[in-house]
Amino acid sequence: MQKNELVTVAIQDMGVNGEGIGRVNGYTLFIKDAVIGDVVEAKVTKVKKNYGYARLMNIVTPSKHRVEPVCKFARKCGGCQIQELSYEKQLEFKQNKVLGNLERIGGFSPEFLKAVFGGVIGMEKPFGYRNKAQFPFGTDKEGQPVTGFYAGRTHDIIANTDCALGVPVNREILELVLAFMKKYHVSSYDEKTGEGLIRHVLIRYGFTTKEIMVCFVVNREKADFTNGKPVSNTKSAVNESGSYGVWIPHQEILVERLVQIPGMTSITVSPNPRQTNVIMGERYEVLWGQPFITDYIGAVKYQISPLSFYQVNPVQTEKLYGLALEYADLKGQETVWDLYCGIGTISLFLAQKAGMVYGVEIVPQAVEDARQNAEINGIENVEFYVGKAEEVLPDYYKKYEKEHPEEYAHADVIVVDPPRKGCDTELLKTMVDMQPERIVYVSCDSATLARDLKYLCGEGYEIKKGRVVDQFGMSVHVETVCLLSNRKADSHIKLSLDMDEYYDIMDKEKAEKK
Ligand code: SAH
Repeated sequence: MQKNELVTVAIQDMGVNGEGIGRVNGYTLFIKDAVIGDVVEAKVTKVKKNYGYARLMNIVTPSKHRVEPVCKFARKCGGCQIQELSYEKQLEFKQNKVLGNLERIGGFSPEFLKAVFGGVIGMEKPFGYRNKAQFPFGTDKEGQPVTGFYAGRTHDIIANTDCALGVPVNREILELVLAFMKKYHVSSYDEKTGEGLIRHVLIRYGFTTKEIMVCFVVNREKADFTNGKPVSNTKSAVNESGSYGVWIPHQEILVERLVQIPGMTSITVSPNPRQTNVIMGERYEVLWGQPFITDYIGAVKYQISPLSFYQVNPVQTEKLYGLALEYADLKGQETVWDLYCGIGTISLFLAQKAGMVYGVEIVPQAVEDARQNAEINGIENVEFYVGKAEEVLPDYYKKYEKEHPEEYAHADVIVVDPPRKGCDTELLKTMVDMQPERIVYVSCDSATLARDLKYLCGEGYEIKKGRVVDQFGMSVHVETVCLLSNRKADSHIKLSLDMDEYYDIMDKEKAEKK
């Protein structure tokens, strides 16, 4: 195989990043945008010893799973990886990816996995599901402001105000902002020179409440108090002497236009004068309306500010966390730990049915949000700790042991929802020490899930149930939730014997009968 060679390949499989995989004379090629079942012509771009990469040039025979992409930028844009694969097949791909990792890395047999795992849970509508979007602003060749998405791995902006994963109102807002910027000569930020004003526009939409938030990330440190005009309902852009502060020239006109959009609830600016890839500034100020929008996941209410974390697909999140709650099987008295709790979404879900829930999260701001969310929902049986799960829980365990030498810190249920790197071994050890009856593992990376489940199953736990839930249609990302139960607890109740002993007795009985 040579670089630049043109080959014809039948795509037989798909890699973890959604790329098509085919073989030419036993040599494996990865081909982006080719889908399973295609026969394609591709140009080899990179040759390694055992595998290589090729660029899709021409589809010779389209796969029966291939569909017309909804967005014409599907291939260029980094947001979607598998938009040209039918949604049904996407779901199958995700289920196989998870079970494949559990088999390969976790060492669980396919038969066993088939028996414990239910079918994948997909979306009813796999487009328009994202409640949050951050659009970068730039300047086109004619010197006009543009917004859209970054092409591939570059920071070149391709104009598109109509992302198929976002809500339709994004487009209305962005077109309004662009027209305003053109008319009043408001500049976009330029990463190379560090000049220009508008860096990003963040839009958030409450699916349940239909409330809209717009936040302008601007390249400045503070407002200009020399020539401002009042914005109706302004909260923070007024200084002590009563002057109006300007973040964006003619912002009162921009605001006036934006508030015509039904549902507009919060208009803010977030100052970010640093030359960095970090999108949001460290703080925000209200230009108009409230500092937050409200939304619901299930019966739990959330206040979402420009800087808060919030699940981007609340519809599927409700299904995923609903399963976590079902697996936790709470009766009302249990002590539950929710590790990696974020803004407390799972904790608050569980608290509705548990005795006491303890949440642990590393980001202090998220914990503040979690506490506030507990408060606005009138939930009192939760307590949140800021810190690393792998430090907070072991410390708690050791401290408890010291104070109660005869006992150990028992938990009835432990829930974990770690980032992609999974759980720290120190944490897994303490979890086992606490001997919970059930562990509910929510995972966004099935490879680390498999590794951690292998550990837990080696320490007396067994997988009882699992489901794959698609939160991110058109992308390769997928969530999994698993229920593990404590084998010791089980055998204690049912048998009080270990199985070897049991079989010995059976054998003896058989022998006696003979
Ligand atoms: N269930 C949460 C989201 C979990 S995402 C919710 O719905 O809000 C994973 C979370 O783990 C993130 O909030 C991240 O900040 C946090 N995190 C990352 N490393 C951590 C660690 N070592 N200890 C505790 N939390 C951590």
